[in-house]
Formats: sequence, structure tokens, C-alpha cells
Amino acid sequence: MSSVSVKDLSLNFGHISVLKDLNLDIAEGEFLVLLGPSGCGKSTLLNCIAGLLDISDGQIFIKGKNVTWEEPKDRGIGMVFQSYALYPQMTVKGNLTFGLKNAGVAKDEIERRVARTADILQIQPLLERKPSQLSGGQRQRVAIGRALVRDVDVFLFDEPLSNLDAKLRSELRVEIKRLHQKLANTMIYVTHDQIEALTLADRIAVMKGGLIQQLDTPHAIYNHPVNRFVAGFIGSPG
Ligand code: ADP
Ligand code: MG
Repeated sequence: MSSVSVKDLSLNFGHISVLKDLNLDIAEGEFLVLLGPSGCGKSTLLNCIAGLLDISDGQIFIKGKNVTWEEPKDRGIGMVFQSYALYPQMTVKGNLTFGLKNAGVAKDEIERRVARTADILQIQPLLERKPSQLSGGQRQRVAIGRALVRDVDVFLFDEPLSNLDAKLRSELRVEIKRLHQKLANTMIYVTHDQIEALTLADRIAVMKGGLIQQLDTPHAIYNHPVNRFVAGFIGSPG
């Protein structure tokens, strides 16, 4: 059974067609990267999977269940955005637990999950700080933590590192890879950065103009691009 399955998905904004009859099957535990230039529809596709946009046509399944019309909170997904969107007035711990408290998760379960998340992301010393007292990399770690505490099956990342400088970006890239190896859950990761895609992905879906041009392993995409666009974008010899 696929972890996430997108069937004949179309999305229009007004009369502009942004996603065109997309099909995508993501395996349990797979790290799938959506790669493509700005404006090709990566975030739109991710937001459809998350349930943040109503699709125009098609269906979305998560773990075999048709979630096309389910609320985002009922889809079993956690999302990490480019902008950290932490609550500035709350501590790190408050940011991690806010959603859980609202969802009625028991207090000792919340404590257990915070401890585990802090341990995995190495943010124990930061729990009582406010976001303004954190570096960019620490903030993004907390943003990842907010998805992690939810104990979800599927993580969605939308360019989580693109606001960071090059050094931090490569550090966090390693951490995200480690996180995936440790949790072994499904991750869908949007980026326009070829290096990120090639180093993180089990498979890469290269997108252009609302269509998937090629879906394959980094090795296959790099060595056997299906067309000039893919070759040019991935920077392969051709
Ligand atoms: P990407 O994440 O790959 O950069 P997006 O998914 O954000 O691309 O956008 C895909 C296309 O849809 C772009 O042409 C963008 O201008 C358009 N678009 C995105 N959001 C909206 C919206 N809310 N209303 C109208 N057009 C939109
Ligand atoms: Mg985007």
C-alpha cells in the first residue's frame, strides 16, 4: 500500500490551470523530493496533499484512505514551512505543545513526546527560551519539532532551509537525513535546490509547469534525464 497517493489531481486558480492531471504514488517510509523551478506548482501540490487547498479534480489517499475532503488536522500529516511561523510570545516548549493541548492529548503523553522530540533534535537546552532568543537554525529545528511532536505518519516540508545561510543549510540537511533514517516515516520535501534533492531523496519528482517531467532515483535522473529540461535543471552532463 502506498503511503500517499495522488490520482488524476488537477488544480486551477480561477481559469489558470496550475496542476494538470498529476499522478504520484509515494511508498511507506520513502523520502520523495518535489524539485523544480519557482512557480512550477511544488507548493501547490504539497498544499493539496496537506488539505490546505481544495482541489479541482482527482483524489488524494493517505495510507489507503481517501482524504480528499478531510480536514488538514485529520490527515495524519505534519508540515514544516519555509518561514518558521513560531508563536513569538510562547517558549519553545509552548510552541511544541500548543497544538497537542488543543487536540486534547493527555499531559503525560505530551511530556513524553516533548522529551523525545527534544532528544531527537537536540533542543533540550532551548525549551524555556522564546523564539527571539534562538538562532535561525535553532528556530527551524523547533519548527521541525512541531511536526515531530504530532507523531504523524507523513512529513511535508516546503523549502524548510531556503531562508538559512549555506553553512546552516548543509548542517540541517544532514540532520533531516538523520531524522528520516531514525523515524523511517514518509517525507515529501519541496525544494528548488538540486543539491538538496540529490542528497536527500530516495526519489525525485522533477516538475515543470504543473506537470511531473520525470520521477526516479537521483542516480537515474542525473544519469538518464528524460529531456533537456530535466538535464539542464539537474545540471547533469546530458
Ligand atoms: P512553486 O512552489 O513551485 O514555486 P507554486 O505552487 O507556489 O509554485 O505556484 C504555482 C503557480 O500557481 C504559480 O504560477 C503561482 O503564481 C500560482 N499560484 C499560486 N498560488 C496562487 C493563488 N493563491 N492564486 C492564484 N495563483 C496562484
Ligand atoms: Mg513554493
